[in-house]
Amino acid sequence: MTDRRIPLSALEQGTPFAARHIGPDARDRAKMLAQVGFGSLDDLTAAAVPESIRTTEALRLPEARDEAGVLAELRGLAARNTVLRSMIGLGYHGTFTPPVILRNVLENPAWYTAYTPYQPEISQGRLEALLNFQTVVSDLTGLPTAGASLLDEATAAAEAMALSRRVGKVKEGVFLVDADCLPQTVAVVRTRAEPTGVEVMVADLSGGIPDEAAERGVFGVLVQYPGASGAVRDLRGLVDRAHDLGAVVTVAADLLALTLLTSPGELGADIAVGTSQRFGVPMGFGGPHAGYMAVRDSFARSLPGRLVGVSRDADGAPAYRLALQTREQHIRREKATSNICTAQVLLAVMAGMYAVYHGPDGLAAIARRTHRYAALLAAGLREAGVEVVHDAFFDTVTARVPGRAAEVVAAARAAGVNLWQADADHVGVTCDETTGRGDLAAVWSAFGAARDASDLDALDARTPDALPEGLLRHDAYLTHPVFHRHRSETAMLRYLRRLADRDYALDRGMIPLGSCTMKLNATVEMEPVTWPEFAELHPFAPADQAEGYLSMIRELEERLAEITGYDRVSLQPNAGSQGELAGLLAVRAHHRATGQPGRNVCLIPSSAHGTNAASAVMAGMRVVVVATGENGDVDADDLRAKIEKHADELAVLMVTYPSTHGVFEEDIAGICAAVHDAGGQVYVDGANLNALVGLARPGRFGADVSHLNLHKTFCIPHGGGGPGVGPVAVRSHLAPYLPGHPLQPTAGPAGGGIGPVAAAPWGSAGILPISWAYLRLMGAEGLRRATQVAVLGANYIAKRLEAHYPVLYTGPGGLVAHECIIDVRPLTRATGVSIDDVAKRLIDYGFHAPTMSFPVAGTLMIEPTESENLAELDRFCDAMIAIRAEIDRVGSGEWPKDDNPLANAPHTTAQLSGEWPHPYTRQQAVFPTGTREERDGKYWPPVRRIDGAFGDRNLVCSCPPVAEHADHAG
Ligand SMILES: *Cc1c(COP(=O)(O)O)cnc(C)c1O
Repeated sequence: MTDRRIPLSALEQGTPFAARHIGPDARDRAKMLAQVGFGSLDDLTAAAVPESIRTTEALRLPEARDEAGVLAELRGLAARNTVLRSMIGLGYHGTFTPPVILRNVLENPAWYTAYTPYQPEISQGRLEALLNFQTVVSDLTGLPTAGASLLDEATAAAEAMALSRRVGKVKEGVFLVDADCLPQTVAVVRTRAEPTGVEVMVADLSGGIPDEAAERGVFGVLVQYPGASGAVRDLRGLVDRAHDLGAVVTVAADLLALTLLTSPGELGADIAVGTSQRFGVPMGFGGPHAGYMAVRDSFARSLPGRLVGVSRDADGAPAYRLALQTREQHIRREKATSNICTAQVLLAVMAGMYAVYHGPDGLAAIARRTHRYAALLAAGLREAGVEVVHDAFFDTVTARVPGRAAEVVAAARAAGVNLWQADADHVGVTCDETTGRGDLAAVWSAFGAARDASDLDALDARTPDALPEGLLRHDAYLTHPVFHRHRSETAMLRYLRRLADRDYALDRGMIPLGSCTMKLNATVEMEPVTWPEFAELHPFAPADQAEGYLSMIRELEERLAEITGYDRVSLQPNAGSQGELAGLLAVRAHHRATGQPGRNVCLIPSSAHGTNAASAVMAGMRVVVVATGENGDVDADDLRAKIEKHADELAVLMVTYPSTHGVFEEDIAGICAAVHDAGGQVYVDGANLNALVGLARPGRFGADVSHLNLHKTFCIPHGGGGPGVGPVAVRSHLAPYLPGHPLQPTAGPAGGGIGPVAAAPWGSAGILPISWAYLRLMGAEGLRRATQVAVLGANYIAKRLEAHYPVLYTGPGGLVAHECIIDVRPLTRATGVSIDDVAKRLIDYGFHAPTMSFPVAGTLMIEPTESENLAELDRFCDAMIAIRAEIDRVGSGEWPKDDNPLANAPHTTAQLSGEWPHPYTRQQAVFPTGTREERDGKYWPPVRRIDGAFGDRNLVCSCPPVAEHADHAG
């Protein structure tokens, strides 16, 4: 017998994860390299990446491990977290995620791998889900227009402050904040107020508006409802007085409480903000959760963030799409009113579905139960002689225990319950959906008020509610049928499936979006996110209960610093936009500390992402635009001229590298040096880091600060438009100005840095296991290989398409970086076929369109990422080439300009089953390549092309009456 044994040590290796993450295998790569004209990946990247920035050493990261090994390590980290019953409150609550939502939304790639719904025809499922969310928020807050999520409650409050100043009558004066607002909200509002010259006044508003404030003028008022202490107050008098002063009133409200309490809208508020976390979204040590904002009618067009609205398609059928897109920072740049881009779509979908599943009566029952526990808790304390501070509350009881607060909190902790020590004399106890009888018993005994839990029913019988009669809610909410039809699990499962089926996500095919890096989000990376040890921690839990998290966070920060060449990283910013703001605030603080407060000019190339300019304005800077040269690079002459002109006021240059034009600019090191010579700092927008990891390090080629997008480069899924994590990475001189947090000082530099930019100390900590796992699975070699293959993929596509569409910009050696821009403008001029037509036609071919008209109007930016294999890359190139041939048939006059497969794309089944008056066949319309695979795997868009402008003129942003849909059922 021949010996076919393979050494055990070799067998033990298994398949390296990098071979699963990277799509093209060795044979594919060889073919691609041949097409691009290089012998090896190293030769290719040596030619593409400028020598001046290339690193020579390997990254110092732990050796890659296989999936089983990494899962075991993660289990070890999880085991070092201790999950106690949380009764801390302060905006984070225990909640039961309905398993049907947990598995079919949060753990379902059809939802979590989707992109932001800029292509509405392939996004009708998540757009409907977001419309549900908006309807929940709008109904519960009693304000007519709600957005499709903000980053968290604290940043939503800061956005409300900015909105108040923008739209209100009073432009001067203070922003008045009630002292009973959540402490993290107050802190974030302060961080955001200072650079824009807004003075925040925090005062106890329970007795009305202080004279001092009234005398100085008040442009906005922020109150919490119920308050952080639990107090429920009638705000009507305060609102009237604020309105008399011309102020805009924002109420930060708890959505669950609003199922029982009079809505902010009815109390007269202009804006409501908050979080939807307790609607079925795990606490996750701080996030991600969907923040919300709702506004009165007259503010609808000024609402920050995305807004889903109803419009109609080419058949006149109702269809959803993002409304008022022209307000987005992409377009408005330094005139943008907010820098928010990535939001919290996946979590908004969950919260909306929680309301769909429970319905209005189910939500009210959860709220009632939560309230009864709080009422009984207070009654039990009072009967034992403990002073309860407020008579009216919803879920939170503040007890006064002079000098004993620490002792009570410690006793509760020993019994497995976390309480909140408000100060030396006060303890806060918050009930939620998960509170049970045993918890009450544990809390009572921690207060030294032990009582027999068996007499709870007797206590219940003699304890009245603690909700003020005058604030009980009487109006109906969530009356739309969607909140009544899906109450059995079967119905809910099918509803979720039906919506997911309408959408195109990475589980169907490639999403070649330039700048967005839609790469693999591996299942092994996603798994830990919903483990209770990661999902159920309160962000303000004592640090010794979060050892596993804190180790993971420290390691991730260190490894990201190693990859980027910076010295310190903060994971707090919960989107790239917030990382930008944090980084610019650090630059600002640095100039102030070195006695140069006059440095406030931010140079930004004209090709920059819109968030850059928007963030600069929010950081109190003046934006000066630098021109782009013919070849797409930053115009060096213009840059030098602008540096000279603004030398004394130059704060920072903000550039994206590789550039948003998808090329490695040769002279980046020289550009950095010129800015430094003029006394400025260099901010490198790290959204394109997928072209650099393992090849070059911005912190070493001259930059001072960057943000990264973990939801691009480091595998956090896009979620349909969030969540994200946007760490800010800095050289050591900026480290003292990283974000801090008032409730977890260890989360930031000594002294608290620039203050918090997010509500939670480590931002969206709950999804950090994804990026941690990715780095652990890939190791230095795997990461470098991934970058090289990403660059190879982009160059392969550029080469295959260049004969059919001009590639707009290239860098050294005629190569692109990890993405390429193809120019459709000449074809549009010649044939009338628009960039939209090409994007929509790709849907018929089974693709998500590339990034459209960014950074250059009339172009497509294609980023294949390393995860797409050669078969998928070829399928895409073949589709683009076939579309080019179709364009030619329009150009030649064979097909009329207004009736051809491009102009009519995408095509639906409804169209096929109706009359067919077109000069091309049904077959050409929906099975253009005629292959078996195409028919087997066909994605059918549920609607035809959507008329966005119609919807903007007729703004409808909550669930439309069902009859409208019925009209078009046939
Ligand atoms: C995505 C992106 C941003 C913004 O990041 P968000 O996470 O969406 O806030 C900024 N700059 C560039 C170049 C980007 O591609």
